[in-house]
Amino acid sequence: MKTLAKICIIALVFSACKTDKKPMVENQNQDFEAYTQYFIDELWKHNPEWATYVGYHNYDSILTIPNDEYLQKSLAFAKSHLDSLASYDVSQLNPSNQIDYELIKSTLESNNWSTNTLKSHEWNPTSYNVSGLIAFMLNEQYAPLETRLRDISKRMQNIPKYYDAAAKNIKNPVKELTNLAIQQNEGGLYVFKTTLMDSVNQSKLSDSEKSLLMSQTDAALSSVETFVSHLKSILPESSRSFRLGKDLYEASFKYSIQSSYTAEELYNLAMDRKTYLHQKMTETSAQLWSKYYGNTPQPKDSLELISKVISKVSETHVKPEEFQSAIEAQIPELEAFVKEKNLLYIDPSKPLVVRKEPAYMAGVAGASISAPGPYDKDGNTYYNVGSLEGWPADKAESYLREYNHYMLQILNIHEAIPGHYTQLVYANKSPSLIKSILANGAMIEGWAVYTEQMMLENGYGNNEPEMWLMWYKWNLRTVCNTILDYSVHVKNMSKEEAIHLLVKEAFQEQAEADGKWNRVNVSSVQLTSYFAGFVEIVALREKLKEKQGDAFDLKAFHEQFLSYGNAPVKDISRLMLEEK
Ligand code: ZN
Ligand code: ZN
Repeated sequence: MKTLAKICIIALVFSACKTDKKPMVENQNQDFEAYTQYFIDELWKHNPEWATYVGYHNYDSILTIPNDEYLQKSLAFAKSHLDSLASYDVSQLNPSNQIDYELIKSTLESNNWSTNTLKSHEWNPTSYNVSGLIAFMLNEQYAPLETRLRDISKRMQNIPKYYDAAAKNIKNPVKELTNLAIQQNEGGLYVFKTTLMDSVNQSKLSDSEKSLLMSQTDAALSSVETFVSHLKSILPESSRSFRLGKDLYEASFKYSIQSSYTAEELYNLAMDRKTYLHQKMTETSAQLWSKYYGNTPQPKDSLELISKVISKVSETHVKPEEFQSAIEAQIPELEAFVKEKNLLYIDPSKPLVVRKEPAYMAGVAGASISAPGPYDKDGNTYYNVGSLEGWPADKAESYLREYNHYMLQILNIHEAIPGHYTQLVYANKSPSLIKSILANGAMIEGWAVYTEQMMLENGYGNNEPEMWLMWYKWNLRTVCNTILDYSVHVKNMSKEEAIHLLVKEAFQEQAEADGKWNRVNVSSVQLTSYFAGFVEIVALREKLKEKQGDAFDLKAFHEQFLSYGNAPVKDISRLMLEEK
């Protein structure tokens, strides 16, 4: 009796509150949306360089000096906005605003953690380099050349102070990162000496403006050179390990991946997934053996068996001169398949423009998506396709074996349809600027990886064993990226063990494995984003299937999932599972 009465009272109070707060709810959402606008304005004021990169050009003339005063201002910025957030009752916000709330909060907390605990501004000299920013302003034609040069000139006033502050910040840096910073800053001298000078000469600036830029360029060159020699002089005694260690790694993972798993849990899932994939690859390879090797006896070692079959299947590939046209021809086929199987709606009013890779991207063959920025939503989405023209024959052959007949289709699914490009079209429909600016990378990459599996599950590639084998190999790469990153940064994995993992267990070429080792020496956590997003999306789908039973509809699942925009999968899952 007592309990029942209690429940009644609670129910009464609850419903009373609900009706009382109804007008409040609308106000809360409106207030919150107005607040996010204010937050974005403040964010750009505090981070003018970031603003330039996303296409917001009001603060293009300001170069931030990374001194102690700026760090203190960053902390104050985070504190004041965390206080503002605390005045909202998140449960009263609508789903889209709830996600924005979480994204802002996580960004601010990450900023505090990074300033107070990670302190990478002290040990990562690659944080300091202005040439990329100047090159961006010279290459992107968002305003007349003269306007951009005048902004560059104002920014360049601060370059000597910028590098002075940078040199003061650095204490016992990581050797690998110091070497990279030397290389990048030396490489960036070209931007001042050539790109900038050419632009100044071509421009209609007055003679006095031109000569000011010339003298600023001289000052910039000497600042960069002084910074580089400072780095070289402290290199011998720098001893900090490039390995992040367990605590910093877990925290960094928490802020950047925003997963419902810890880094350690994800690592364990990746280890299980590797075992599963090896098992499937062994079965598929055994099935294909006689097709490619006739009566030759099968190797007893399963990794050797897989490797040999992969090697034969990789021989089916296009000629170098057909690479671009083969990619172009596949786009309409993928679109037709998605329609035929009713997998999700593709908006025909936002077509993907396939183009030859622009010159400034050249060198990285393959394919990539160029998306319009948050301030240019009506801009075209380009599919940049690299050309193998002028490549040495052996390099082209090795590349084409990697992107063979099967892999090329998986690449197109990932980058274009229904992967990155399709996700982007949906994301642009979700009107919140916060989700474009503070986009969750694990959701974006996870979606692209998820669609590869989803297309094959629905019969893309006619269930050919070769297609599945190649997809397993491709998926194994994202799995091993996670294993490698965690093992190197947390479990002290040696270079020898890393190369063994990539070459023997993930069937990669030596050159690719060497490159990956170098990458994991100068980066952390980002390599796990593909697998993190993938496992969470698959887990969400399975939970919804269980919950909805026969009512589960794959197309509806995809469309609803994408409708939340670039949000962490953890938040999308919560919202989708809460629904009745
Ligand atoms: Zn060949
Ligand atoms: Zn991707």
